[in-house]
Amino acid sequence: MGQMEATDVRVGVLGCGNVGAALVTLVDEQSGVVSERTGISLEVAAIAVRNTSVDRGVECSADVFTTDAEAVVNDPSIDVVVEVMGGIEPARQLVLAALSLGKPVVTANKELLAAHGEELYVAAEGAGVDLLFEAAVAGAIPIMRPLRESLAGEPLTRVMGIVNGTTNFILSRMSDHGATYADALSEAQSLGYAESDPTADVEGFDAGAKAAVIASLAFGARVVPADVYHEGISGVGVDDIEAARAMGHCIKLLAVAERKTSVDGGVEVAVRVHPTLVPLAHPLAAVNDSFNAVFVEGGAVGELMFYGRGAGGRPTASAVFGDLIDAAANLRRGHGAPIGALRDVRIAPIGEIESAYYLSLEVDDRPGVLADVAAVFGGYGVSIKSMEQVGMGAEAQLRFITHLACENDFQATLGGLGELDAVRSIGSVLRVIDD
Ligand code: NAP
Repeated sequence: MGQMEATDVRVGVLGCGNVGAALVTLVDEQSGVVSERTGISLEVAAIAVRNTSVDRGVECSADVFTTDAEAVVNDPSIDVVVEVMGGIEPARQLVLAALSLGKPVVTANKELLAAHGEELYVAAEGAGVDLLFEAAVAGAIPIMRPLRESLAGEPLTRVMGIVNGTTNFILSRMSDHGATYADALSEAQSLGYAESDPTADVEGFDAGAKAAVIASLAFGARVVPADVYHEGISGVGVDDIEAARAMGHCIKLLAVAERKTSVDGGVEVAVRVHPTLVPLAHPLAAVNDSFNAVFVEGGAVGELMFYGRGAGGRPTASAVFGDLIDAAANLRRGHGAPIGALRDVRIAPIGEIESAYYLSLEVDDRPGVLADVAAVFGGYGVSIKSMEQVGMGAEAQLRFITHLACENDFQATLGGLGELDAVRSIGSVLRVIDD
């Protein structure tokens, strides 16, 4: 085979923090191999940061660094722009500017994509160049490209993901070591997995943003974070985890995107994030600590699971690097890979979803109570799959897992149960995925 003629591609990197510095190092380490395999010779020609006096620990001469991110984007000698600075502005303006100049963009910024994805997709499509963002969802795990390319013709029905490593770490600690939520959270903070203000992770906002991106790509639909119903894990107790285990389940924070058929036969999408009982035999139950996984179900493909590291500088940089090579190769071919038009679809509200449920009730321990409780379930068409009684007398608790039911019917059941004299209180209520 003849020697491939090398194409030089000059890369402008916006940001040199955890991900940016790891990317620059990877390019330095691997560019020879990439050049041999692809004929593309990558050079990091400019890096924008806020403070040029910080040592980034990367093999680059000082004159590559600048505080002027706009100048990097506008520099005619820069072929591809990598945005790893984070946040909405100025990242959004810089990405739009690069695309309008016909430069492919690679970004790891889920916040930006979730909030302004469509504007950016349209700009990339208009310019005929790539906008690639593999690292934005589930870090190192290749899931965006499979959804965009390998599964583009697949009638996908549901995508479920453990896409937030912080909450998975916390739930794993509670489950494996009996740690309280507060102790597990402070351990996550001391290990650098959780921010000092953990709200975005523990209340499900981060997973919600990623769920919106996943749903958009999986179903070719316009889905923004405001469309995503979310509940976090701050209300999950060790008792819930133990009760779930006794009934053959673990608890995971799942992002669930489903394609449904509306009453008039059209496509609608339901997207939600909540703590979920996962059967111990389900592949997602084996995803522990800070690992992520995405479980994809389709009419032809059956079931697929993608598993790996969802965060961390080097794993995330690996996904950015793959995109960078792809963008450079497409640039050489003279055309980008479009995302395709996103459709406007109805977003089904949470009340319309179908799920199985877990419920615990504190009840009076006397004859006839179970029959009264069962009658309320039956009255709203919610059927019980399994039930157990724990404790006796004043401590008596009933725990149920239902078959699939409509959320509105289940909520009505809770209302009816709350009115029974024998029900002292309604305890935990959690959704359950089917096995
Ligand atoms: P980071 O460590 O905070 O680094 C951000 C970098 O951007 C810093 O070098 C900062 O410069 C630079 N920067 C910020 N604003 C700038 C501006 N206006 N002009 C010039 N430079 C600017 O962030 P990160 O953890 O690498 O994350 C980067 C992106 O990757 C984010 O979108 C994040 O959501 C995404 N991501 C990260 C991970 C992860 O594990 N870290 C995983 C998946 C996705 P200074 O250093 O001078 O302040």
